[in-house]
Amino acid sequence: MATILTFAEQRDGKLRRASLEVVSEARRLAEALGATVTAVVIGPGSDSLSGELAAYGADRVQVFDDAALGAYATEAYARALAQAIADAKPSVVLVPFTAMGKDLAPRVAAGVGAGLASDCVGLSVAGGKLVARRPLYAGKAYATVEWAGEPQMATLRPNVFPLGTPDTSRKAEVVKASVDASSRAKVVAVRATAQGKVQLTEAQIIVSGGRGLKGPEHFPLVEALAEAMGAAVGASRAVVDAGWVDHQIQVGQTGKTVSPSLYVACGISGAIQHLAGMSSSKVIVAINKDADAAIFKVADYGILGDVFELLPKLTEAAKAHFASRG
Ligand SMILES: Cc1cc2nc3c(=O)[nH]c(=O)nc-3n(C[C@H](O)[C@H](O)[C@H](O)COP(=O)(O)OP(=O)(O)OC[C@H]3O[C@@H](n4cnc5c(N)ncnc54)[C@H](O)[C@@H]3O)c2cc1C
Repeated sequence: MATILTFAEQRDGKLRRASLEVVSEARRLAEALGATVTAVVIGPGSDSLSGELAAYGADRVQVFDDAALGAYATEAYARALAQAIADAKPSVVLVPFTAMGKDLAPRVAAGVGAGLASDCVGLSVAGGKLVARRPLYAGKAYATVEWAGEPQMATLRPNVFPLGTPDTSRKAEVVKASVDASSRAKVVAVRATAQGKVQLTEAQIIVSGGRGLKGPEHFPLVEALAEAMGAAVGASRAVVDAGWVDHQIQVGQTGKTVSPSLYVACGISGAIQHLAGMSSSKVIVAINKDADAAIFKVADYGILGDVFELLPKLTEAAKAHFASRG
């Protein structure tokens, strides 16, 4: 029987949401392809994650539960994933398009001789084969991709593929594996950035600010709305370059690509390079005082007005709304 193999990324013993989206998508495709789903988890504590992966659709979980694989190292992780591919001989390999997935997938694809379609936003099955949809030219166009051979390997954009409903009664076969964990490059320290409460690429709601805020002293208006909505904070490159906020929260072609359920753009003009990072958001709300701003062309809801007047009102409304919901 054909197998779909997924790489399930974990950090500090927790599965990333993007990994669960990939397993959910694999389950959906498995029904169409008549295939089984194998999830591969690497790192100490991986064993304890197999139940969650089974609940989202894995039939088999291959764990490299090794303390020596604690910190991500491209070489060792690529070796483990390539070994899992050699063992399972999957027809499809799916990896989340996270920072780790972006680093890992091309190396593994080259190593196992697979074609790789990266940053896919849609997958379907036609004639027993996988068909992928992926953006080109910063989201201006979409390509439909088919593979000439197997394994058909793809990275999936986070927050685009829906999470399945977990079924805790599902059980998976757990297979323990080991690999040479040596690596020529060694991680000597991991320093967490001063991230907000919510990770940008996994956030369901993002409130972003741009040059319309006029100065760094006004950026807290954006942060206050984000906090009231339980959202992550994003920014345009203009304000990152001006030093108002950290580069980590830049959205766009040279920043992060995000696909939240709701993206609120405050004082952002909607340059093509900004749109490249957020136009796949499900609902876009733009606040701008220029009726001709390009952001209104992609916005589902446009608010023509002044951020200084509107942001405090929206923050109060959001606080009241969430307080009333308890
Ligand atoms: C190679 C390259 C890569 C790039 N990568 C990125 C990227 O990753 N991300 C990115 O964002 N940009 C990127 N850029 C820059 C991009 O081209 C724009 O310059 C940038 O996005 C503009 O940021 P902004 O919308 O905040 O500022 P502006 O374009 O200056 O827009 C400010 C907006 O605020 C509105 N405004 C002003 N005052 C108010 C007010 N009081 N109330 C409401 N609205 C108000 C204005 O009408 C205007 O629309 C890149 C550029 C290049 C060349």
